[in-house]
Amino acid sequence: MSFDHPVDSIEDTEGFFDAINRHHLTKKLSTDNPYTYWSMEYYDKENGIRGGGGLGVLAADMRRVAEKSNIPFVLITPFYPSEQHQKIKEIDGKFETASVHQPVDYKKYGYQFIDTVNIKTEKGIVNLEVIKKKLGSTTIICITEPGFGELYAGESTGDHRLYQEVALGFGGYQALKLGGLKPAIMQLNEVATFFAALARLDELASSGMDFYEAVVYTRKHTLYTNHTLVQAAEAQFTLEQFKRFVFPNLRSNAVKKWLADKFEGNRVKLSTITIEIAELRSGVSKLHTRLANYRDQAGNKVKFHPITNGIDISKWVAPNILNFYEKEGILDKYYLPRDQFEQKIETLTAEKIRALKQENRNVLNETLNSYPNQYGKIVTIPDDALIVEYKRRFVAYKRPELPFSDPDHLAKILEEFDAYYLFSGRVHEGDDKMTKKLSDLLAIINNHPILKKRVFYFADYDEKLSYALSVGSNISINVPKVGLEACGTSWMKDVANLGVLISTADGGVADCANNNYYCVKGQVEEDEISSLYQCLKEALASWNNDFELEYMIKRELQNFLPIISGARMLKDYLNYLF
Ligand SMILES: *Cc1c(COP(=O)(O)O)cnc(C)c1O
Repeated sequence: MSFDHPVDSIEDTEGFFDAINRHHLTKKLSTDNPYTYWSMEYYDKENGIRGGGGLGVLAADMRRVAEKSNIPFVLITPFYPSEQHQKIKEIDGKFETASVHQPVDYKKYGYQFIDTVNIKTEKGIVNLEVIKKKLGSTTIICITEPGFGELYAGESTGDHRLYQEVALGFGGYQALKLGGLKPAIMQLNEVATFFAALARLDELASSGMDFYEAVVYTRKHTLYTNHTLVQAAEAQFTLEQFKRFVFPNLRSNAVKKWLADKFEGNRVKLSTITIEIAELRSGVSKLHTRLANYRDQAGNKVKFHPITNGIDISKWVAPNILNFYEKEGILDKYYLPRDQFEQKIETLTAEKIRALKQENRNVLNETLNSYPNQYGKIVTIPDDALIVEYKRRFVAYKRPELPFSDPDHLAKILEEFDAYYLFSGRVHEGDDKMTKKLSDLLAIINNHPILKKRVFYFADYDEKLSYALSVGSNISINVPKVGLEACGTSWMKDVANLGVLISTADGGVADCANNNYYCVKGQVEEDEISSLYQCLKEALASWNNDFELEYMIKRELQNFLPIISGARMLKDYLNYLF
C-alpha cells in the first residue's frame, strides 16, 4: 500500500517535541530567547481579537499548537480597539449588506497592562500601550492605543495602514525588550510585519555592531512567510511616506541609507525589503511555493521553502471525533498522526461516520440560533436532510458564485438528495464589486422557488460559525480559481471532521493527488462548472452508499491528516529553522 502524504518521516512524532523540550533546542529556544511570531492579523476571539480570515486563523493556530507542544513562543500583534461585523437586510427582494463597528476592550479578556512605548510619526510622539497575556509556554503581546483603528482600515497604501505597521514593528520590538526578551527567531507572517525586523537591524547597528554584521545577523534570524502569489500586485509605499513614518524611528545612519537605497523611483514594495532582511523564506503549500513569483533586488528569482499550513486539531475538531482519533491510536498527544495511522483508520465504518456526524448536527443547529439567515430568520435543518456548506471570505478568486452558475441544476440536485446549502463569508468593506455579487446571488436564490427553501446565507461569518459548519455538515465545497489560493485551511477543518470534500486542486489541497477527494477539474470555467455539479451529485450519493462513504472518508484522512496536523506544521518550521 502506498499513501500520498507529504510528510517525509512521521515515525518520530512523539519523540520530536519531547526532544525539543528536553535538550535538542534548548540552546537556541528558551523563555528569554523565544520563537517570536509577528502578525498584523490574529483571529482568536476567546482572547478578544477578531481577525479577517485565514492569515489570522493561522497565527492563532500556530500559537495554540506551540502552547500544546510546550514551545517558548511569543506572538506580537495589534489589539484593535474596534471590530467589524457584517449585517444583511432584505427589502422587497433586494439584499443590502452593511457594516457594524463595535468597540472592544482588552480589559475584558484578561490582558495585563505592562507599560507604554512610543514611536515617532509626523504627528510627533505616539504613545502605545503594551499589554500581555500568558498562556502556558506562550505569550500574546499586543500593541494598542485608542486611535489605533480597525484591522485593514483604509487603503493598503494609506498613511494609517503604514502607521499601524510601524507601530507594531517598532513598538512591538521595544515591548520585547521591556520584558528582557531576545528573539531566537522572528517569523514575519507576511510583509506588513517587516518593520519588526527593521527595528532589530537598527538596534544592532546603532549599538556598536558593524553594519554588515548586523545585516547578516538579522537575516539569519528572520523568516519571511509569504502567502501571496504575485509580487507585482502588491501595494507600494512612497519615500515621502517613509520619511514621515519610518525614518524618524531609525537611529543608525547606515540603516537609513540601506533603506533609502531600496527605493526604486520614489516607491518601495514591502516584499522587496523583506526579502533583503530575511534569509529564511517559506511559502504555505507546495503548489504556492512553486507558483510564487518573487524577485530580489538584484532580479534573481526568490525560492520559498514549502511548509504547508496546518490547523490546531484540538480546537477545530469535534470532541467525539477527537476522542475517536485518540482512542484508535490515530493521533498522538500532540495531534500528530502516529505510526501506521493509515491502517488504524481502516477501522472506521460508515455506521461510525454517520453516528459521529449526527451528534454534531445539534451543535450546528444550536449555533445557527445566533446567526440569522438572509431573511433575518433562524434556520433549523431537519435531522434526516443532508447539508452542503461553503464558508470563507467573500472574495473573487474563491468563486462563491460558482455553484450557482446554473440555478436550476443546483436546485434539481438539492431536491433529489433532500439537501440544504448553507454558505457564509464577509465581503471586504469597500469591495463594491463583491458586495454587488453577493446581492445578485441572494436575489437569484430568492427568485427561485426551490433555492429559496434550501439555500441560506449567514452574513456575520466568524470562527464559531466556521466550526459549526465544519462539524455539522456532510459535504464542503472549496473552489478557488486554480493557482490563486495560497493554502486555505477551511477545508482542513471539514476533512478532519469527517466531511466529504469537493475542491479544485489548489492551495494545500494540491499537496495530495486529486483522487483523494472529489476534484473539480477543467481547463475553462464552463468545464469546471459541469465537473462541480457532477462532483456534488456523487458526493451526495456517497452519503447514501456505505461503501462509497467509507472509501472516500478513509482516503481523505489517510492522505490529508498529516498535512492538516498543526503540530506537523510547527515541526516543519522548527526543522527548517534550527
Ligand atoms: C478557518 C477560517 C478561515 C480560513 O479561511 P481559508 O480561506 O480557508 O484560509 C477564515 N476565517 C475563519 C473565520 C475561519 O474560521
